Amino acid sequence: MAEDGSVERIRHLKAEGAYHVLAQAQAMEAEGRSILHLEVGEPDFLASEEILDAGVEALRAGRARYVPPAGIRPLREAIAEFAGRQRGIEVSPAQVLVSPGAKPNMFFPTLALIDAGDDVLYPDPGFPTYAAMIGVAGGRGVPVPVVEERGFSFDLEAFDRALSPRTRLIILNSPANPTGGVIPRDDLEHIAAAAQRHDAWVISDEIYTRITFDGKIAPSIASLPGMQERTVVVDGFSKTYAMSGWRLGYGIMPEGLARKVELLLTHAFGCTSEFVQVAAVEALRGSQDWVAAMVAEYRRRRDRVVTGLNAIPGIRCREPQGAFYAFPNVTALGLSSDELAERILREAGVALLPGTAFGINGEGYLRISYATSMENLERALERIDRFVRSL
Ligand code: PMP
Repeated sequence: MAEDGSVERIRHLKAEGAYHVLAQAQAMEAEGRSILHLEVGEPDFLASEEILDAGVEALRAGRARYVPPAGIRPLREAIAEFAGRQRGIEVSPAQVLVSPGAKPNMFFPTLALIDAGDDVLYPDPGFPTYAAMIGVAGGRGVPVPVVEERGFSFDLEAFDRALSPRTRLIILNSPANPTGGVIPRDDLEHIAAAAQRHDAWVISDEIYTRITFDGKIAPSIASLPGMQERTVVVDGFSKTYAMSGWRLGYGIMPEGLARKVELLLTHAFGCTSEFVQVAAVEALRGSQDWVAAMVAEYRRRRDRVVTGLNAIPGIRCREPQGAFYAFPNVTALGLSSDELAERILREAGVALLPGTAFGINGEGYLRISYATSMENLERALERIDRFVRSL
């Protein structure tokens, strides 16, 4: 036990990089510094009028009581229909669990699926919550590098080497935070075959699935033969519908597992806000045109950011295929990612994240969130350019 009373199982936990840098940047702003924020990974748009109206109306109508832990029926039906159709899979409402944000639908399935000492493969660089939840569940996290040469999909040889008889769970994220990479179908087939061979489960974090730039949604491993029965698909409303602070996400999993995870949700948070769920039904059933408009805007920003970064000597940036992050390679600048990110914040007034906030394989990269206005992006590119040229 630590002096603060906490146990070994949570000793590895640390703050998420984005929250940490945001706090530093805000402290600098409080001292009067001008900071451009490219660190936080959330849409800068407001939810649509229809969603806002539906939420406010529901709240006024008293839809703010305890509801079933798995979610209200109309929302679970809408999710089953929409999320299933999008991915080309058959989903029943009984397989859907609603939660406050997508995170609980990764954390609790992980708790339900792994025993102490089980191996869990996860992407590195990758979303920091994966390593955190694996450790809390008592698993052994096995980071698998995702590599620039492969569009930030797994290094498949490293993936194969990481597999063992203890492999119980594989975590995927496509499109990915922090790289913007999309896992191609061939790779998903390779991973699916390995999961079946090892009788392992997959948690597929597909929260950015509709934010892609080729007009198609990213393929889901759940749509491959034999995979839906061993996959937890995670998605939500934070990114697609710009509802991050509403806290709403969901998991789709085989019914047996869903009944167990439902118990964890029941005892952890009881249920998810009813009026938020009512608004989400509107999000799914209403017009999707504004989602398409947001994605088109992300694409315009991506193009600008990638072009701008590649014009800076020593920075090389691949074109991300999805999400709203650029992950430029900065090895040629000769500074560590941590030092570079820190100096860009202190000396140039641009808050962004070192690739190492996402794992050791993020060394040599920075993560830039372009979920901010074009004007901010232009100014930030100018500041970074000036800083790099002064090195
Ligand atoms: N997965 C990934 C890859 C993310 O980037 C995020 C948000 N930063 C989440 C999950 C969490 O989503 P939510 O806010 O819905 O809990």
